[in-house]
Amino acid sequence: MFLCNPEHATVSSNQRAREERTYPPFSSAWGNFLRREFNLPENKKKESAMHPLTATFLGGLEEVGMNCLLLSWQDNHLLIDCGLGFPDPSYYPGVEAAHPCFERLEHLEGEIVGIVVTHGHEDHIGAIPQLLKYCDAPVYGPEFAMKLLGHRLHRHHLQTPIHTTQPDDIYPIGPFEVEWIPVAHSVPHSCCLSIRTPLHHIIHSGDFKFEMPPSPRSPNPLPRLGALGEEGVDLLFCESTNVSVPGFAGSESSLYSGFEDVFLRAKGRIFVVTFSSHIDRLHLAIELAREFGRKIVLLGASLQRNVHAARELGLLQLRADDIIDLNDMHTISPRRLLILATGSQAEPFSAMTRIAMGNHKVSLQQEDSIIWSSRKIPGNENAIGYIHDQIVEQGARLYHSPQYPVHVSGHGFREEIQMMHQLTQPTHLVPIHGRQTFLHEHKLLATQSGFPAENIHLCQNGDRLSLHKGEVTRLPSWEHRTVFMANNSTHPLSEDAQRERRQMSRYGLIVLSAQLNMQGQLSTPPQFSLMGVPVPKENAKDWGEMLQERFEESPMEYKLSKADIEETLRRLLGNHLRSAYRIKPRIEVLLHQT
Ligand SMILES: [Zn+2]
Ligand SMILES: [Zn+2]
Repeated sequence: MFLCNPEHATVSSNQRAREERTYPPFSSAWGNFLRREFNLPENKKKESAMHPLTATFLGGLEEVGMNCLLLSWQDNHLLIDCGLGFPDPSYYPGVEAAHPCFERLEHLEGEIVGIVVTHGHEDHIGAIPQLLKYCDAPVYGPEFAMKLLGHRLHRHHLQTPIHTTQPDDIYPIGPFEVEWIPVAHSVPHSCCLSIRTPLHHIIHSGDFKFEMPPSPRSPNPLPRLGALGEEGVDLLFCESTNVSVPGFAGSESSLYSGFEDVFLRAKGRIFVVTFSSHIDRLHLAIELAREFGRKIVLLGASLQRNVHAARELGLLQLRADDIIDLNDMHTISPRRLLILATGSQAEPFSAMTRIAMGNHKVSLQQEDSIIWSSRKIPGNENAIGYIHDQIVEQGARLYHSPQYPVHVSGHGFREEIQMMHQLTQPTHLVPIHGRQTFLHEHKLLATQSGFPAENIHLCQNGDRLSLHKGEVTRLPSWEHRTVFMANNSTHPLSEDAQRERRQMSRYGLIVLSAQLNMQGQLSTPPQFSLMGVPVPKENAKDWGEMLQERFEESPMEYKLSKADIEETLRRLLGNHLRSAYRIKPRIEVLLHQT
């Protein structure tokens, strides 16, 4: 581990940290710590002990994505995760991703001492480059996440210090002590966080599940979480993704037989489509490829990048001769090929989408078997369904969950969420990571198993909670704003631009051009240019004279300035289109004066 401040360079083991914690707050150990770290005079110690811990939710409570939580204690601030969201393309046309607005962080009193990361998924690390424009804080997180983040920061030409954390160590970051506890999830090195100030102890679940039965490649967090629960936890932030699904998510090892079955049956090539960061899933496919004598082709830039990172960290054992290049595929029998491809969410430019649509060097064949090994993220169902249609129409065999046992979720189901509550025994619970429906369902689940309802705090983006002397109270919320990023654009899309795009995507655009004479009258009937409007273009021929007539009948008070005239023309045309065709296209007016 590398820490920039030499005073912070001592990393205590769990054992040592637990011994230190046996001191009462502000007795010798903590007092020395606080005096050293914050230069607190003796007589200020009691006063500082009054400071509550506050939590501000910057994102992740009204969507699956944009996870970002700010913890503050004594003007020291710690950010937990900072992810992207992926808005529904039918409502946000052309939007690639979204993230919380970070402007407010620039005006915080005190210092942002660090950004701590639970794991390497996009909804947890994807917006860190955007965040770093507003705060210059070091990032701490587990190895695989930091590897992925390093590539991302490099692409953004950012030199921010990145500190890789190890599971058995505790890291002092400002006044916070942070411990990463490995959990099972769908990306390597996923962790829960235990975060302490001298006066508080909270746990952040990250994204997790409990492998039942345990997989050899998965960590077992039960003993450590149980021990932390015994020590006392003031507040648990717990994820809610699968809170509506009964039972357990299932173990990664349970997929072996489902995959093996496809390998046994397949007469041609096998494709596996999954998230490119799901290294355990790739490991399973690669092991079977070896067993069945198949060479591996990697299709998709993110897949190649993640496989490279996983090999460097020893998470994937791939020999050079296991892999063949796309251009050499034709030299190998289809029965000897496994193709790992990106595109599990039918992303438009991903390898599998392009293959299914006939826009790739690789084309589908009748003997191909496609294992679709991922869930459908809400909002992507139609796009994925369309790609599935393309695959089966071309005669390939499609294996997807739940019809075939080729996928298990990385997020715990109801039983696992309850286990997290029981292990950590928190005084207060804040459901996070999901839409409001999920969070409400999470509260219901917890109360049904005896958690006091008054200690469960449902929040929305922008809400703030204060934890003080074991009590949680609400603080005035921050205004929450989302920043939308357009495809390949250097600037975010404003709310106005979003509204205009939605309007145009529903009813199209009409450009009305008109000539005004010196008397402020229309010298000729206006002309119209229609784009994407659900009305035959020839209908517009009748609008010019009608509009000129209505404009001349309009009272003078609507024609006093150029802006008035533009607005009047827009309104007259809009009224006509609404009554004649029941449409509300966007109308742009170009006014020329002669
Ligand atoms: Zn995740
Ligand atoms: Zn997540």
